[in-house]
Amino acid sequence: IAAPGTILYVDSVTVSFDGFRALNELSLVIEPGELRTIIGPNGAGKTTMMDVITGKTRPDQGDVLFDGHVDLTKMTEDQIANLGIGRKFQKPTVFEHLTVFENLELALKCKRDTLSTLLFRLSGEQQHRIDQVLGTVGLKDKPRMLAGALSHGQKQWLEIGMLLMQDQRLLLLDEPVAGMTDAETEATAELILDLHKDPHHSLVVVEHDMEFVRALGARVTVLHEGSVLAEGSLDAVQANAKVVEVYLGR
Ligand code: ADP
Repeated sequence: IAAPGTILYVDSVTVSFDGFRALNELSLVIEPGELRTIIGPNGAGKTTMMDVITGKTRPDQGDVLFDGHVDLTKMTEDQIANLGIGRKFQKPTVFEHLTVFENLELALKCKRDTLSTLLFRLSGEQQHRIDQVLGTVGLKDKPRMLAGALSHGQKQWLEIGMLLMQDQRLLLLDEPVAGMTDAETEATAELILDLHKDPHHSLVVVEHDMEFVRALGARVTVLHEGSVLAEGSLDAVQANAKVVEVYLGR
């Protein structure tokens, strides 16, 4: 099978837990360079979908292709990460006892698999790349700060920076603004829109915060009971009677 011209192609994927279908013939296509938002009530299958894409969960059936032809259902989590698919979980997982700079440095070095690279000094180019990423994620003036001393929002941005250091092409962000202040949420929307300007990045953002979803202005996919209930602009899906029923009818 092949799906030319797509970065992510999910076709009729089913995942069952003890007979319960967390994903039920889910199909989803992401184009290269696309920004997509995924919404849906609790239990809709959003986390399971991310788990399938990153190789944490194997589907019972269906296809998951990266870059139009790479079959992700046959690969390990590490192989998938090395292909250029990066996931950020809801809670930040930065190294609190290292500085901001060291976190980014570590992300860069871990991308290349040999342990010996850990001992190498950074090249000028790598140093420059870290500075660039510090600017992108709004931490330009904090390279020497311990990551543990950052605010919750700044930790989230640092973690996005770590994905950027690894040159991930498909970025999966799980509720990136959960727990953020309004100002941090706005800054995160700007950051994501900035990343989206680079055609090298495709982004899938799972989010509950509708103001944030609106600020992203992206195509929205609504999941419900393990499949796609609706897809389109936020206004279109919010006006969709099936979507209204799922959100209000419970
Ligand atoms: P969401 O992220 O949209 O809230 P999830 O993907 O976490 O939804 O869950 C979808 C459904 O699958 C839920 O009903 C959840 O209880 C169930 N589920 C998820 N993971 C497991 C698991 N490991 N074992 C059993 N049931 C699970």
